[in-house]
Amino acid sequence: MTSVVLDAARELLRTEGFVELLPVILAPVTDPLRHTADRAVIEAYGQRWHLTRSMIFHKQAAVTVLEKIFSFSPNVRLEPAEWGQSGRHLFEFVQLDLEVREADRNDVLALGERLLVHIVERVRGFCAQELTLLGRKLGELHAPFPRIPYREAEARYSAGFEDHVSRRAQGPVWIVDFPVGVREFYDREDPSRPGVLLDMDLVYPAGYGEALSGGEREHEPHRILDRIERQGLDPTAYGSLLAAARAGLPSSAGFGIGIERLVRYLGGLPHVREVRLFPRVPGEPAAL
Ligand code: ASP
Ligand code: MG
Repeated sequence: MTSVVLDAARELLRTEGFVELLPVILAPVTDPLRHTADRAVIEAYGQRWHLTRSMIFHKQAAVTVLEKIFSFSPNVRLEPAEWGQSGRHLFEFVQLDLEVREADRNDVLALGERLLVHIVERVRGFCAQELTLLGRKLGELHAPFPRIPYREAEARYSAGFEDHVSRRAQGPVWIVDFPVGVREFYDREDPSRPGVLLDMDLVYPAGYGEALSGGEREHEPHRILDRIERQGLDPTAYGSLLAAARAGLPSSAGFGIGIERLVRYLGGLPHVREVRLFPRVPGEPAAL
């Protein structure tokens, strides 16, 4: 099923004019990811290299030369050992990471919908036997998916609402407009609504939880610096990003969707570990 998902994603994106980039595994700077304290770093050639937590900054730089890009990007995120039992966390996983120059949030919401609808159609067509074997009834998806602003979902379901939304939903649901304090500095703050980001998550139904995160990006150097400082991060750690922004980063929008979580949802599997032959589950040793 994973192969069908990869083929279907490539098929749609290539048809829409995207160029596939080979992934970056090591870099001087990577996604700060507010919720993950751990740093996976190696030293080589007199320099520190982060294992990629997401290709966000490479995506922003790539769209200076290519209009629409994607990559199947291996990410390493050293999540707490307890998260190993969540069903949704691997500390090494692959995300389909994509970005579009001069796109806005609506453009990438619609792209996310086309992508999921297409993948589900292909999986229903090519994996019928596998779905039967798994006892999984996978219905067609219908776009557009509903959108709930973060503050509204929080007021309705209180903290941890993403799980509530996911458990009650009949189909995928967008959560939009995250408050500035809960997300990374690269999600663009709405110039007309300070404190509100032009970003989104997609949540799967039936309790499968978060599917993707994305949004519009901060690309102007003074705005990136302001956001870095407001988050209490060290601007010198993001010197190469700021230099790229001063040289000129275009506006862009994009998202990253986890492949193992997607296949888990499509197959109705209890844990993302089932998707990988060599799963890296937080807190568990690996034999190979
Ligand atoms: N960098 C985000 C993540 O990995 C995805 C994105 O905003 O494109 O969660
Ligand atoms: Mg996310």
